[in-house]
Amino acid sequence: MLYRKVPKTGDELSILGFGCMRLAQKDGRIDEERATGQIRYAIDHGVNYIDTAWPYHGGESEPLVGRALAGGYRERVKLATKLPAWMVKSRADMDRFLDAQLRKLATSRIDYYLVHSLNGGTWDRVAALAVTEFLDRARSDGRIVNAGFSFHGLREDFKRIVDAYAWTFCQIQYNYLDEDHQAGTEGLKYAASKGMAVIAMEPLRGGTLAVSPQPPAIDAIWREAERRRSPAEWALRWVWDHPEVTVALSGMNDEAQVEENLAIASGAGPESLTIEEAGLVARAARKYREIMKVGCTGCGYCQPCPSGIDIPGCFDLFNAFHTFGRKQEALFLYVVRAGGFLSGHPAYASLCAHCLECLEKCPQELQIPDLLEQVASEFEGEGLREREAMARRFFQG
Ligand code: SF4
Ligand code: SF4
Repeated sequence: MLYRKVPKTGDELSILGFGCMRLAQKDGRIDEERATGQIRYAIDHGVNYIDTAWPYHGGESEPLVGRALAGGYRERVKLATKLPAWMVKSRADMDRFLDAQLRKLATSRIDYYLVHSLNGGTWDRVAALAVTEFLDRARSDGRIVNAGFSFHGLREDFKRIVDAYAWTFCQIQYNYLDEDHQAGTEGLKYAASKGMAVIAMEPLRGGTLAVSPQPPAIDAIWREAERRRSPAEWALRWVWDHPEVTVALSGMNDEAQVEENLAIASGAGPESLTIEEAGLVARAARKYREIMKVGCTGCGYCQPCPSGIDIPGCFDLFNAFHTFGRKQEALFLYVVRAGGFLSGHPAYASLCAHCLECLEKCPQELQIPDLLEQVASEFEGEGLREREAMARRFFQG
């Protein structure tokens, strides 16, 4: 296992972190024996960063992690969890959540504590509720060690949040398809320039980039490589090739996957891809974009939309549904994101007012309102109410 240093603390973190959002399951619940076995196996083989959050597995991930880290494992890792920003209604809520998380995780401190899933709007809301004072207090009384935030929003807002507090670290969605999406490479470098450690989430884009076989056009590109690698290895190596990335989180739930990721993490140093290999990954990214249902690059120039619609987010899920076959996941995430469960403001594609403001801003010249109509007709039809009820249970308890 390779390790990278957190600039502000000197902590040496394993470049592979264990994400506990997609743990092994059996009969619709966490398969405790397998999930615990996989987490402990990863730790025994060098992983020392474990990431969970309040809502994962309907609130069951944190207690599972607490149990999995019993028997001496807790002291061998840095433990990360997150304040569910969208559920916080007052300053007192912040302490209430953190204290409950310490109990759920059976620990006296969280090593890496994040404000979860920020964008510009949620940041403004929790900042007004004095989240920075809460983080200062929690650090000084020892309940948390390092403060950070995870992010899904526009790059300008990312930089604004980076500049707003003395964060130790942040967590961004980062993979070879998201170089220009959300924080992107520019955000990664910006955070690193401020001395922050950066945790990369979704390095395999929800597993999409690791699926084998890949679409034939992508497979053909990988077959040109002098050195054969699995799709997962190409994707992970691309992330770790960036020296600004401290840890890549992988939501592992299968023994073979743990084994493969551990093997890759033992040899993926920064700037270790050759120019030819980096070129191959860039071609794969371009090809992926070509075969996508909507050719949105996620640049965000069309934002903000006066109706509050997350236009690139809608297209991202539309592609996940059509191009990558992640149908159930895309339908559920659409409701979570557009239903207002995180932001408090519904922003379904059907709310497009056809003002046409976005049209001239799109460098890809996408017919955004027409495409949003397609999104609405496919994602907001049958089963929407049931998915909303599920999301409400998931996020609001
Ligand atoms: S046309 Fe629709 S999606 Fe585009 S900016 Fe106006 S309301 Fe938003
Ligand atoms: S401007 Fe166009 S390509 Fe860029 S995010 Fe918006 S829809 Fe996608």
